[in-house]
Amino acid sequence: MEFYSLNSPAIKADFKQACIQGQASDKGLFFPSFIPKWTKEFVTGMHSSSKEAIALEIMKPFVGNTMPIAKLEEIIAHTLAFDIPLHQLDASTSILELFHGPTLAFKDVGARFMSSCLGYFLEDEKDKKVIVLAATSGDTGGAVANGFYETPGVKVVVLYPKGKVSKVQERQICVNGSNIFPLEVDGNFDDCQQMVKTAFVDKELQEALFLTSANSINVARWLPQQLYYALAYKQWNDVSNPPVIAVPSGNFGNICAGLLAWSSGLPVKHFIAATNENKVVVDYLNTHQYQPKQGVATISNAMDVGDPSNFVRVMALFEEQFQALKQQVTTYSISDEETKKTIAKVHASFDYIMDPHTAVAYAALDQYKRTNHSNDAGIVLSTAHPVKFKPTIESVLGKGFLAKEEANILQQPYKPAMNIHNNFDDLKQFLLTI
Ligand SMILES: *Cc1c(COP(=O)(O)O)cnc(C)c1O
Repeated sequence: MEFYSLNSPAIKADFKQACIQGQASDKGLFFPSFIPKWTKEFVTGMHSSSKEAIALEIMKPFVGNTMPIAKLEEIIAHTLAFDIPLHQLDASTSILELFHGPTLAFKDVGARFMSSCLGYFLEDEKDKKVIVLAATSGDTGGAVANGFYETPGVKVVVLYPKGKVSKVQERQICVNGSNIFPLEVDGNFDDCQQMVKTAFVDKELQEALFLTSANSINVARWLPQQLYYALAYKQWNDVSNPPVIAVPSGNFGNICAGLLAWSSGLPVKHFIAATNENKVVVDYLNTHQYQPKQGVATISNAMDVGDPSNFVRVMALFEEQFQALKQQVTTYSISDEETKKTIAKVHASFDYIMDPHTAVAYAALDQYKRTNHSNDAGIVLSTAHPVKFKPTIESVLGKGFLAKEEANILQQPYKPAMNIHNNFDDLKQFLLTI
């Protein structure tokens, strides 16, 4: 499979090149040159196939011959080495729990797949210092630090906005590994992302280092997210009534992977892109005007994105057809107030605690059902374990809740982050000296 840059189709790469480069040389996102079509037998057979067999079939065309099948099998087994259960709340609503991985958020699958692929591909690059650089609004940093923990020959530098990530998230970023370097930036997420982007175009750094990105635009992080949707369907019993799937969305990588799986033949009745108050895409679908904005802070912080980088991929998937997109995807913007009410309501009705990101999607699905879709059955993707947002949830429920996962994380050894100014030169000096 070839990938091409969405800025200039003449720029092409195979999976290895796209994985190493992150984005194309013209800063475009890589996009697959064709959409694989799944056979009916493959789709109907999902219910009785293993998750590893399903994953292999889905990933094979994209990875192509850039690695032996046995290596891809090994990477998939490592990537999916935890449960992804579908938890039924009531007759028409189920929750796909994507938070049972090591950092308790859905980004583990993408980050583990990408770090294993990069670790394999970079074995040939031993003569330069390899640095994986990532900016995080919360969950990417932990997943990447975990994914690359003690990977030989690879150093990982994670930038996060000081005081704007939760305690559990911070501990997960500040992993006590000899190759992990957490940096706490005096600024917001956009500042972190800007510094990282500047690093990638800095000539001096490019000559001195082998610098690569671990952000969600990387195809090796984006593509394996298709597996969630296939694994949801594997556990879906009512094959005559495919699910509506509600996805908590920030950078739109996750939902775009779902739309890709649907384009390949996965039965999904409809997609709901659930956003918080950062609602650029909601406005776009209402007005047909795409207006990027500054991100605003909410209680679902991993979705505080004012200019979702993967949205260009969504448009490419729909061949820029606005109406076709509107037919398959409905968007909602859910306020913090509604999110909190939803957490309380779901807890009272089902004795189930959901994190704020999941609650945004649950509220969006609820709104959708109340607009002439009451017969549809839905799946809410649950992207984070509630313990990652414990203070918010405890204040909503008015009581504490225990989670052994939190105790486990807080007991792990960690190293405090280094503080740096919102200043590119400081980052540059740091990268040259580690
Ligand atoms: C990253 C993240 C999201 C948003 O996913 P995108 O692929 O950026 O749309 C949602 N929920 C949680 C918990 C996240 O960490």
